Amino acid sequence: GGRDPRGTWSPDSSGSPRLREPRYRVVLLGDPGVGKTSLVNLFAGVQERDLLDQHGGAAYERRLTVDGEETALLVLDTWESEQRGEESQRRSHCLHVGNAYIIVYSVTDRDSFESASELRIQLRRARQAEDIPIILVGNKTDLVRCREVSEEEGQACAAVFDCKFIETSAALQHNVAELFEGVVRQIRLRQGGRKS
Ligand code: GDP
Repeated sequence: GGRDPRGTWSPDSSGSPRLREPRYRVVLLGDPGVGKTSLVNLFAGVQERDLLDQHGGAAYERRLTVDGEETALLVLDTWESEQRGEESQRRSHCLHVGNAYIIVYSVTDRDSFESASELRIQLRRARQAEDIPIILVGNKTDLVRCREVSEEEGQACAAVFDCKFIETSAALQHNVAELFEGVVRQIRLRQGGRKS
């Protein structure tokens, strides 16, 4: 221990000194088993081992071009990896470091859907005055027969909580690229709507 987590999460300490394009931190939230790691693995190019060590979880960085502009996304999959005792502090940290959030539930698990609402509320509390992009994701749509949460319920929840919504299947690689592109678009929209 002993390291200041704020320091290790700062944009300048991650080994990309010559980066020119904007770089955004996206944090994955959601119950265990909903598919966060599967989604980010599909997205990720390079997995940065250094970041892995420092954060006790996985961080993935990739550049992607959306609407003709390049962006670097750093995706943090650290929500569940916190050690006991430090958990609440680290989680609170997670709620503060993101430029955008992806809240994942499984369409086959109603409890995870309810957790997603709670996470949205926690996030709102942690970042009260800020207008942060949040994408609500219903994953595992391939498991048709096990579905417990309808697409309409997901949409309604997103509307209430003022989030974007998308259903994905990491197993079928369905809508995963669209999810991460959507995150970039949402971040850009809030940055003064430059270009359209
Ligand atoms: P995490 O705990 O949220 O990071 O979830 P994981 O990515 O580890 O996934 C938990 C389990 O669900 C693993 O066995 C995955 O293979 C499985 N899984 C993840 N996404 C999907 C999906 O879209 N469809 C199906 N059928 N299984 C999935």
